[in-house]
Amino acid sequence: MVCAKRKRILTIYIRALSRTHFGIIFILNVEQSIHILRLLLQNRGISYAITDRNFVVTLADGAPYCIDQSLALGRRIDVVLPELIGSEAELQAILDGELPRLQFPLINRSRGDRETSTFLDDLNAQLQFFPPAHDNGEVEISDGGDSYYLTITVLPHQRYGEITGLIVFVEDVTEEGLIQQRITQHRNELTLLRDQLARQNVRLQAANRELQQLDELKSRFVTVAAHELRTPLTAISGYTELLRDGSFGLLDERQRRPLTIIAQSTDRLLEIINNLLDVSRIETGRVQLNMCSTPLQQIIRRCLDEYHLVVKKRGQTLTVDLPSDTPLLLCDLARTVQVLGNLLGNASKYTPEGGSIHLSAGPAAQAGYFQIAVQDTGVGIPLAEQQRIFGTFYRASNADQTNAAGAGLGLHISRSLVELQGGEIHFESEPGQGSTFFFTLPLAE
Ligand code: ADP
Repeated sequence: MVCAKRKRILTIYIRALSRTHFGIIFILNVEQSIHILRLLLQNRGISYAITDRNFVVTLADGAPYCIDQSLALGRRIDVVLPELIGSEAELQAILDGELPRLQFPLINRSRGDRETSTFLDDLNAQLQFFPPAHDNGEVEISDGGDSYYLTITVLPHQRYGEITGLIVFVEDVTEEGLIQQRITQHRNELTLLRDQLARQNVRLQAANRELQQLDELKSRFVTVAAHELRTPLTAISGYTELLRDGSFGLLDERQRRPLTIIAQSTDRLLEIINNLLDVSRIETGRVQLNMCSTPLQQIIRRCLDEYHLVVKKRGQTLTVDLPSDTPLLLCDLARTVQVLGNLLGNASKYTPEGGSIHLSAGPAAQAGYFQIAVQDTGVGIPLAEQQRIFGTFYRASNADQTNAAGAGLGLHISRSLVELQGGEIHFESEPGQGSTFFFTLPLAE
């Protein structure tokens, strides 16, 4: 027998569910209505229970894994739904009309908690009047794997304007719960990764600081060592010159030859030391430039004075092609002479004896700039290595073809010095044919 109270509730829910579900309101008898209601509640994974004012369940129906009606009737609602234990004060507040609703969202339960078979058998037996929900005749309960999620909502149950107890809805929200679970899991993983990243960052920063300190130490060491070496070397170089000149007595050719070797080696050492000091200055931003309006001819003359002999000694020819007017460049004279000297020195070093070197100058492609070029007929630079020759201590694999000594610092320094003066440096080279190095500087006017 269906009691009057149940009939009323069922009618309300059937109307509500029918409206949303089918769009048509069927006129049904009460027995049919119960079947439909159960079917709909079952399909949607919803249960409800109604209690009296002592929280004792007087009516329960719907999906049995949400509320098992056979166990619920006559029991306190917090025995049926242990999740409500501890919320007695709030439940009382709902009864007293002080609290409109209480909700426990996304309660996680495991599949073992539910006992549905008896209920489903019973339900299927009652559903003969209506077609089954699915073709295979089974009522589907949303499956969330081993666990499922429920949301419990408690509302006041009113009759004739008075609160006579509680109405408790239990809804299967497994899909939402699983999504929520995945989001939480991803969030936790992200937090973990972020923490790992932060720790790695701290370690990297510490390593970086250590590296910087080591780098500074290295630069300081190079500077100090180079300075300390330069002083006695300058003395050796000076006295060797004096000895060779005969300032301390005339020398014959046999005695002079070793002195020449000493002088050449000392010059070479001084050049390396000066280069090391320059690299250190460049790396620490301590290059001081004296930018002046400088006639091109002055730069060329200073270089030719020095390199004319070098080239001659190797039996090479040096031709020069300069513009007839005298352009003024805005540059540091000493540093520009150093750059051009390095290019001329390289051209001679990496060109076999008897080869030729051509020095030319003219307006650069970029307006307001002037370009100087040093061309040789030397060994050239292997294509695969052309990217690297401006690096520090880099020498091409064919560098010793002409027995040229070097430390691989000159081009690095030259590029830095040209760029510091606002210009650019580049080259074209064909292995076995020769190379041309170009650099630009701003015009003074
Ligand atoms: P260094 O001449 O002291 O070795 P550089 O920095 O001046 O150092 O040059 C780097 C390298 O570039 C050289 O070792 C050489 O392999 C290559 N190189 C530079 N200039 C020329 C050139 N004119 N012809 C061929 N190779 C060159």
